[in-house]
Amino acid sequence: MRSPTELAQVFRDKQLKLKPQRQLLFSRLHQNKSHPTAESLYEIASKQMPGISLRTIYQTLGELAEMGELQLVDVGIGATRFDPNTGDHHHFVCESCRAMHDVDILTSPKMSLRRGGGFAVNEVGVVFCGRCNRCNHKQQVRSPESQAKDKASN
Ligand SMILES: [Zn+2]
Ligand SMILES: [Zn+2]
Repeated sequence: MRSPTELAQVFRDKQLKLKPQRQLLFSRLHQNKSHPTAESLYEIASKQMPGISLRTIYQTLGELAEMGELQLVDVGIGATRFDPNTGDHHHFVCESCRAMHDVDILTSPKMSLRRGGGFAVNEVGVVFCGRCNRCNHKQQVRSPESQAKDKASN
């Protein structure tokens, strides 16, 4: 995704209205690595600009996606995520807290279909599902062993 200043210029050139709400979203999305959903952006934006509508958020996200500034990531866990990193990369999703991280994979990413069946592949994206460090740690802390100890001490 281009910088908020560059995007403001693009919107002006396209004669799209450059409302302050849009500029706020540009700055919230620029170099944002959290892969936010429309709702989470709405929450963040509302704090800074009370009264901003969810409709404006969806509209701006749609425009940015159409312009190729955002990548939509839909992995079947929770809502669609918006990623300003439009380059080829892969994701890890935590099934517990739904955090999404960019990941590098060790093997060659140049996978191909064993039975191509004439499909024309435009891009390859791998999604790893599991538990993030934070959630993994939380679970270890609350292991059955420590729970048994808790009961014993009560
Ligand atoms: Zn997690
Ligand atoms: Zn990403």
